[in-house]
Amino acid sequence: MRTTVGIIGAGPAGLLLARLLHNAGIDSVVLETRDRAYVEQRQRAGILEQGTVDVLREAGAAARMDREGIGHDGIELRFDRRRHRVDFPALTGGRSVMVYAQTEVCKDLIALQLAAGGPLLFEAEALAVEGAETQSPRVRFRHQGREDVLACDYVVGCDGSWGVARKAVPADVSRVFERTYPFGWLGILADVPPSHDELVYARHDRGFALLSMRSPTVTRAYLQVPAGTDAADWGDEEIWDELDRRLETDDPAWTLKRGPITSKSVTPMRSHVHEPMRHGRVFLAGDAAHIVPPTGAKGLNLAVGDVVTFARALAEYRETGSDARLEAYSETCLRRVWQAERFSYAMTTMLHRAPEATPFDDRIQLAQLDRIASSRSADADLAESYTGFPLD
Ligand SMILES: Cc1cc2nc3c(=O)[nH]c(=O)nc-3n(C[C@H](O)[C@H](O)[C@H](O)COP(=O)(O)OP(=O)(O)OC[C@H]3O[C@@H](n4cnc5c(N)ncnc54)[C@H](O)[C@@H]3O)c2cc1C
Repeated sequence: MRTTVGIIGAGPAGLLLARLLHNAGIDSVVLETRDRAYVEQRQRAGILEQGTVDVLREAGAAARMDREGIGHDGIELRFDRRRHRVDFPALTGGRSVMVYAQTEVCKDLIALQLAAGGPLLFEAEALAVEGAETQSPRVRFRHQGREDVLACDYVVGCDGSWGVARKAVPADVSRVFERTYPFGWLGILADVPPSHDELVYARHDRGFALLSMRSPTVTRAYLQVPAGTDAADWGDEEIWDELDRRLETDDPAWTLKRGPITSKSVTPMRSHVHEPMRHGRVFLAGDAAHIVPPTGAKGLNLAVGDVVTFARALAEYRETGSDARLEAYSETCLRRVWQAERFSYAMTTMLHRAPEATPFDDRIQLAQLDRIASSRSADADLAESYTGFPLD
């Protein structure tokens, strides 16, 4: 089998890349180890930055998002029983975000890819990437019980944090930067309308809580829990009681709406960056190259930024013969990646209570939040970072 761009992984990075290349008249093949149902059900991100929304629209993949997505013009910070709203458009010159689940983005992109004739192979596991330093790198993969080889001009590893593409970068040129946090998020989905019309990020002495949503009838919420927690250890009423406590406020108008919990899971929290993001003709994109803790809602959006950068660079090379942008891919992406790492780390450490936190640490967190609530420039800094860093 032969193609111009071999894409490993049909998460948001791989699927969007296939779409962008198709629109630019460049052929690709997507290999995905899981089946279609699994990819379409995996619960993950839900916040699309302004730049991601714009890219999906330009790619012709936004029809359902524009019908069903929920535009958000702000978030609420809750701390010390206070409420502070961060007004995105007022602080950023008109930028905002969209609540539209990653699963729905993937469903839309899969439908488009298959309608355009694919090729998108499910249950096709990439085993190894070979020949990164040659003009024709190859992906060895297994599909329907048979081993095969996909010969390419370029390989893009969009295969997430446990994928194989990263191994194509030799150990002596790879550098890994990481931090593991001593807590995770217990996430729930519940069949009850959201209690607030925007996301609420709460810092509390008992730990962080986040109130979010998937749709006008489905609540998504998270609680900080110790690393290694088993979701089954938490009863449904216990979760609602804890959310109630951590979201407490002096505002008498506030109430938490409870309803049947339909899903519970625990996500570990870590920051991880693999440098460089390119070796020869093998490129890494999305979680294959970097992970952020979900507090800043950046993971999916970073993946989008990477594949847009690659698709534009390749299109420019084909149009002008200049490979300057392809050469600069890793550097260009990493600038944005480190800004997202910085913001996600800052949000995480400001809002979560570390097991070894002292009263001094608590006061510093409250002072940071008070600064945002009382200074327009601190407020604007958060709003700019949350709504997204500019694409290349
Ligand atoms: C609970 C949770 C909440 C989150 N919330 C947010 C949020 O609000 N906003 C945000 O921006 N981000 C969020 N994220 C992060 C976001 O979901 C990820 O950053 C995003 O999925 C990255 O997309 P990707 O395409 O790079 O990787 P993935 O989505 O991980 O896709 C990788 C794909 O590659 C496939 N694959 C792996 N190995 C192989 C192989 N050998 N051969 C073939 N295929 C392979 C996998 O099956 C998978 O389909 C959240 C994550 C979690 C877990």
